[in-house]
Amino acid sequence: MLKIQENVPLAPMTSFRLGGEAKYFVDVKTLEELKEALQFAKVKDLNFYVMAGGTNLLISDAGFDGLIIRMKISQAEVQDGLVEISAGTPLIKVVNFSAENGFAGIESLAGVPGSFGGAVRGNAGAYGTEIGSHVDEVTALNGDTLEIVKFKNQQCDFSYRSSIFKKNKKLIVLSATLKLTPADVAQCKAKVMETVMGRTKKGLQGAKSAGSYFMNPKINSQDLLKEFEDEKGVPARGGVVPAAWIIDKAGLRGKTIGGIQVSQEHTNYIINTGDGTAENVIMLVSLVKQQVRDQFGIQLVEEVNYLGF
Ligand SMILES: Cc1cc2nc3c(=O)[nH]c(=O)nc-3n(C[C@H](O)[C@H](O)[C@H](O)COP(=O)(O)OP(=O)(O)OC[C@H]3O[C@@H](n4cnc5c(N)ncnc54)[C@H](O)[C@@H]3O)c2cc1C
Repeated sequence: MLKIQENVPLAPMTSFRLGGEAKYFVDVKTLEELKEALQFAKVKDLNFYVMAGGTNLLISDAGFDGLIIRMKISQAEVQDGLVEISAGTPLIKVVNFSAENGFAGIESLAGVPGSFGGAVRGNAGAYGTEIGSHVDEVTALNGDTLEIVKFKNQQCDFSYRSSIFKKNKKLIVLSATLKLTPADVAQCKAKVMETVMGRTKKGLQGAKSAGSYFMNPKINSQDLLKEFEDEKGVPARGGVVPAAWIIDKAGLRGKTIGGIQVSQEHTNYIINTGDGTAENVIMLVSLVKQQVRDQFGIQLVEEVNYLGF
């Protein structure tokens, strides 16, 4: 019997540690439980929202007046040379499982927190590797019709931090198969370890944040592109510069509203210093967007997802 709880605090379930309560909340560990939860929402005429690791999410202080379904369906196996993983599996487990089975390709994603399904939906990426490039097929559930739909890689519409599953909010990622390259287990594991250590050194993994808040913008100003390339000594590939660089240039490093701060270490990280609120985040983020727009004519777009606003 599915255990649906009432008035559940959501802040502890997010990496930001922010947000109010869910009117209804349930963890689902099987497809049947997921369908049951969706049925509950339908019968009660509630909005539902699927979350997983809560590492890319800002929930309003007022919470969510519907049903939060937290994806916990977790399984990983190798089938016919493909790695098949359920959406609720932590991404780090997927990376380790692949390495241990001698499959290379996603080691650079070690240390990206959250679930596999969240990563597929947002086409998570790090150090030049995006999960979407390694997806063979995704199995999704249409939250309205409860129909199961399969998407081959080309149908997933993967692009920078986006996919069809992000654009079509009815689609719930259930599982996906990854096409990886057979490789030496020890080498795969060493690369995973190296990546994790590199990220840990940066000191941001434990911060109360949602990772990079904004997507890296594509800019038109040739002067600004040249300035970036001269300063950093690297090319701005495809006219894209790091959002962190622009935010820093706008003089916003360390800018604080209430308990929320533009990180001193990485200016695309918005940090909850301990006593922040979601409202503080919205105020600070609005200021950052306005300053960057006014000073450089660039419209920053959020990578972080909003719920309950
Ligand atoms: C310290 C830190 C570092 C980070 N570094 C990176 C990085 O290097 N690269 C990167 O890409 N991201 C990074 N992130 C962001 C985050 O880890 C990823 O976006 C991650 O993939 C989100 O997964 P999640 O399970 O936590 O999703 P959640 O935060 O729970 O949800 C995010 C969104 O995905 C939707 N969603 C979740 N699961 C499903 C599903 N099964 N089906 C449909 N929709 C779903 C939710 O509705 C929501 O809109 C970082 C975050 C933190 C806190």
